[in-house]
Amino acid sequence: MLKMRTQTIGVVHFAPLALGKNGKMGNIFEQDIFDIFNSDKTQFYVNFSKSIEEESCKNCSYNSFCAVCISKIYTANIQRLKDGLELCEIAKRNKMDKYFDFNVNYSDFKFNV
Ligand code: SF4
Repeated sequence: MLKMRTQTIGVVHFAPLALGKNGKMGNIFEQDIFDIFNSDKTQFYVNFSKSIEEESCKNCSYNSFCAVCISKIYTANIQRLKDGLELCEIAKRNKMDKYFDFNVNYSDFKFNV
């Protein structure tokens, strides 16, 4: 089940607090709600997949943080990039870089693994 909510008037978000502008899916005053539901970005959220049993996660140092939460996977990958690593296999497989901005300046950002 996909849960969507509006925060700013008319703006539809997915997980608005954690994903910020990356979670914006559309605006019901500017777009037909069915177009928002059927958009590539909504389908990205619907189809995003990560099992708790992912092989590529087993030896990843961020594993205890990520679980199966898309917001946490996004956060962990921001930290991976800051640490000089690439996006992880889960992020690549789900094409997170197509929909999420990883070039954020989180100077106050603290990651607790
Ligand atoms: S960063 Fe990626 S590979 Fe590592 S635990 Fe999270 S989802 Fe898995």
